[in-house]
Amino acid sequence: MLLAKPRGYCAGVDRAVQTVEEALKLYGAPIYVRKQIVHNKHVVQTLEAKGAIFVEENEEVPEGATVIFSAHGVAPEVYAQAKERSLKAIDATCPLVTKVHHEARRFAQEDYDILLIGHEGHEEVIGTAGEAPAHIQLVDGPDSVDQVTVRDPEKVVWLSQTTLSVDETLETVARLKQRLPLLQSPPSDDICYATSNRQHVVKEIAPECDVVIVVGSRNSSNSVRLVEVALDAGARAGHLVDFAHEIDDAWLAGARTVGLTSGASVPDDLVQEVLAHLAERGFADVEEITTADERLTFSLPQELKRDMKAAAARR
Ligand code: SF4
Repeated sequence: MLLAKPRGYCAGVDRAVQTVEEALKLYGAPIYVRKQIVHNKHVVQTLEAKGAIFVEENEEVPEGATVIFSAHGVAPEVYAQAKERSLKAIDATCPLVTKVHHEARRFAQEDYDILLIGHEGHEEVIGTAGEAPAHIQLVDGPDSVDQVTVRDPEKVVWLSQTTLSVDETLETVARLKQRLPLLQSPPSDDICYATSNRQHVVKEIAPECDVVIVVGSRNSSNSVRLVEVALDAGARAGHLVDFAHEIDDAWLAGARTVGLTSGASVPDDLVQEVLAHLAERGFADVEEITTADERLTFSLPQELKRDMKAAAARR
């Protein structure tokens, strides 16, 4: 077994999950969460069992109740709707997504055309595009480049979703630059440290693996990308599973080396369950391959911290 590190929870997911847990402790159940707090089935089920209610839109939240916005971020109109319904909103948007929102607002104020590289329909893309819909157009990968039209080819910038494939994004940007040589780049990388670190270590192990198993949910962009990256980097097969029991023994037939990693929204106990499952099938010799040391943490949302402090002072 080649076990990738870093894998699993990133700082933004850790913060978002803790936000729901702390809100449940502080305000009591139920706490409403708009969209899945992070894209992981197990995390959502665990929080539901503790009293979180996941909804699609603010209209499903009773007036005056507490609603948490997910790690993927929301468009400004979602805050406005929450205010109209007198909801107490707690924003668990990852600060690295918020950074992209700031960039979008700034470039829109300067009247740039913004090419947002990302996957159509993904919540993060909807939220970022909502910051400046008149200035932003979506570029969904290299094949969408030909459809791009801009007002002034000297005033164009690209931004991206945080959880894309690093290599595919570079390809998209290269194609965009062929058409728009003066295209500007974001002030700093939009693809986040967690996404790139998890892809980097998978690239290291994949060439040696007969099969790479990625623990993560189908709607988790960064998890799906890890399977693609593993295959591109030379793994003979790659599979995404939410849970150990989804592993088909046929995938392991004839395999000598199995790689294992997990997406940024996956708690490590699910990976440990996969390790135990594979050990029972003869893959008990585990080598952890580490390519980066992650220490980043984010503090809880201000509005929640303020209430936690006030509650502590009352005790
Ligand atoms: S994957 Fe990156 S952008 Fe998304 S929550 Fe984690 S750190 Fe934030």
